Amino acid sequence: MFLENSITSLQGVGSKRRSLFERLLGPRVMDALLHLPCDMVTRRFVTSVTEAGKGEVITVIGEVISHTPPSYPRKIYSVSCFDGKYFFDLVFFHGKASYLQTALPIHSKRLISGKLERFQDRWKITHPDHIASPDDQQQLCGPEPVYPLTTGITNKCVNRVIKSALLRLPTLPEWLDEEKAQKWPRWDEAVRRVHNPQSQQDLTPHSPARLRLAYDELFAHQLSLNLTRRRQQARMPGSSLTGDGRRKARILQSLPFSLTPGQETAIADITQDMASPQQMLRLIQGDVGSGKTLVALIAMVQAVEAGFQAAILAPTDILARQHAAHLTPLCEVAGIRLALLTGRDTGKKRAQLLEDLRNQKIDILVGTHAIIQEDVHFAKLGLAVVDEQHRFGVEQRLALTEKGKNPDVLAMTATPIPRTLMLANYGDMDVSIIRDKPAGRQPVNTKVIPLSRLSEVVDGIERALKTGTKIYWVCPLIEESEAIDLAAAMERWKALSQKFPGKAGLVHGKLKADEKDAIMNQFINGSVDILIATTVIEVGVDVPAASIMIIEHAERFGLSQLHQLRGRIGRGNQAAMCLLLYSHALTAGGRKRLEIMRQTNDGFLISEEDLKLRGSGELLGTKQSGLPRFRIADFTSNPDVYGELLAIANRDARRICQEDPTLSTTRGQALQLLLTLYGRADAAKYSRSG
Ligand code: ADP
Ligand code: MG
Repeated sequence: MFLENSITSLQGVGSKRRSLFERLLGPRVMDALLHLPCDMVTRRFVTSVTEAGKGEVITVIGEVISHTPPSYPRKIYSVSCFDGKYFFDLVFFHGKASYLQTALPIHSKRLISGKLERFQDRWKITHPDHIASPDDQQQLCGPEPVYPLTTGITNKCVNRVIKSALLRLPTLPEWLDEEKAQKWPRWDEAVRRVHNPQSQQDLTPHSPARLRLAYDELFAHQLSLNLTRRRQQARMPGSSLTGDGRRKARILQSLPFSLTPGQETAIADITQDMASPQQMLRLIQGDVGSGKTLVALIAMVQAVEAGFQAAILAPTDILARQHAAHLTPLCEVAGIRLALLTGRDTGKKRAQLLEDLRNQKIDILVGTHAIIQEDVHFAKLGLAVVDEQHRFGVEQRLALTEKGKNPDVLAMTATPIPRTLMLANYGDMDVSIIRDKPAGRQPVNTKVIPLSRLSEVVDGIERALKTGTKIYWVCPLIEESEAIDLAAAMERWKALSQKFPGKAGLVHGKLKADEKDAIMNQFINGSVDILIATTVIEVGVDVPAASIMIIEHAERFGLSQLHQLRGRIGRGNQAAMCLLLYSHALTAGGRKRLEIMRQTNDGFLISEEDLKLRGSGELLGTKQSGLPRFRIADFTSNPDVYGELLAIANRDARRICQEDPTLSTTRGQALQLLLTLYGRADAAKYSRSG
C-alpha cells in the first residue's frame, strides 16, 4: 500500500539526499505524513512592495532591470527589479551567475516570493523562496506550512515531498468509534488539513485534525500493548495459583504489626490475579517505606502454597541481601525454603544452589541479576517479582519471566509515576497503589541549614549518638564530577572519624561488593554509627535504628532523589530528622526544592511538584522514564491535552480487547490497518514483561 512505501517513491526525494530525508521524515510515506508543520506563512500578494511592511513574507511581480554580479568573489550578487511603482533588490550570497541569469532574464516579468526587508533605504528580498512565472500566482499566494527542518533540506523541499504524498492519499476504512468519527475528520481529511493550515488555530493541538491524528497514534500504541498481552495470554495462559492460605496466615500472625489498608488491598488484588488462569501483570506503586516487600512475600507464599516457586529480583547486592535477611525468618515460620543468589556466589556453592532450584528444594529465590543468568533453571517458577522495577531494562525483566511458563509478574516501584507516564509505559499493566504508611511512623522533621553551620550540626550529632541513634551522612556523587565528589566524601569521612573514632564508615560505588557489605553490616549490627555514603544507599535499604540523615549539598539533588534518600529514615519508632545542608550558591530552583522537602513528606505530592519544577519535558525526556516517543502527541509541550487523550485511548483499547480481541469485525479490520500503519504490528513484543 502506498502509505507503507519508501519515501523515495515521492517526488523530490532523490537518492542523493535520501538519508537526510529519512532522518527528518522517517522511512515510509506514512512517516512523512506525520511530519507536521510547526508554523505557517501567508504569502500575501501585493502589487507593489510599498504596500507591504518590513519583515512580511510577500509575493510580488517585478520586471528584472539589471544584474550586478559581485565586485569580487564572495560578495553578494544582486538583481534589481521594478514593480511598476518602486524598485527592489533580490540579494544572493554565493549566487551562481549562470543560474541567476536564466532564472531572472533582463526585462522579463517574474513572480517573486520571499521575506521583504529594508536596508539602507532600499527594499530587499534576500534569497527569495520562490522565483516563478507570473502565471503561477495562484500557487504562490496564500498560506504555506512551515516544517521542522534539518540542514540540507529547505522548507520548499519538504513542502514538495509532502504535497506529492498528499496527491495520492488513499481513503481508509474508519477505525474510530462512532462518537469520535462524528466529532473528528476522516483520517485522510485530517492529514490533508494539518498540512494545509489556514490559520494559527489549525496549528494548535486542539484543532480537530491534529487531535484525531494524535489520538490515532496513542490508540495504536495502547491497542498494541493490550492486544499483545491478551493474545499471549490466550495462546499460553498462565496458571491459576491458589493455596490453602495456611502458610500465609502463619506468617501474618507472626508479625508484630498488622497490615496497612493499602497493603491489604494490594494483597487482595494480587490474590485475585494469581488465582485467575490468566497471567498476572501488576505493578505495586508505593512510597518508600510503605511496606511493599511484605506484599511481595505474601504473593510469593501464595505461589509456594500452590506448589510453585517464586523469585524476587533486586537491583543491588545490598538490597538482595537485605531482602533475604528480612524474609528468611518469616519464611522459616511457614516452613518455606528461601535462598539468596548474587554475583558473588560461585563454584560449588552456586552449583549446589542451582541444583536445589532445579529440584524444587528451594521455594523462593532472592537475588540480583545473577538469578537471570542463562544456567539458572527453576523447576516450576510461578511468580516473578521485580523490585524497584524502574531500575531494570525490559530485557532483564523478560529474562526473568522466561524462566517459567508465563509466570505471574509483580513489579514494584517506589517512584510515584504521574498518570500520563504510567499509561504510556504500562498501559497494559494493572496497578495497585499503596497510599498509606505503616501506623506509628512519624513524619521526618526536615530542616534546611547552610553548610556554614556544619560545626553545630556535628555537635548535634554527638548528642544524638549518645542516645543510640544511627546516622546517615549523604554526600553527592554526580557522574560529571565523580573524582572531586569522591574526594569530598573521603574528606568528610576522615573528619568525622577523627571526631568519632571507630564510629564512622564510608560506602561508595567504587567499593567492591563485599567491602560495601562489610561496612553496611557494621552499620546495621555493629560499631559503625555514622554511615557516610554517596547515593549508593538510595535504593531500598532498611535500617530501623537510623533516625537521622544529613544530606550535604542537598541543592545538588533532584526532588525525587531527596525524597528517596529521606525515605531511608523514619522507619523505626523514634522521631526522625533530616538535615539538608546547602552551600551558598543556591539557585532559585534549588531553594524551591529544599523548601518543598521541608514542607511535606508526601511522595505523590513531591513527584507532582517535581514534574512542575523540572517541566514535564525533562522528566519525560530522561532515559529512565522510558517513555515511548510519539510523533504528534508531544507530551513535553502539551502534557494536559495528550495526557487526557492517552487516558481515552487506553480505555478504548481495553474495551476492544474485551469486545473484539481477534479484530475480526469490520471495525476490527480497520484497526489492524491502524496498527500496521503506525508501526505497531508487532511492536509490543516486550510489553508483557512489565
Ligand atoms: P518499601 O515499600 O520501601 O520497600 P519495605 O518493604 O522495605 O518498604 O518496608 C519498610 C519497613 O516497614 C520494613 O522494616 C517493614 O518490616 C516495615 N513494615 C512493613 N509493613 C508494615 C506494617 N504494616 N506495619 C509496620 N511496619 C511495617
Ligand atoms: Mg523496597
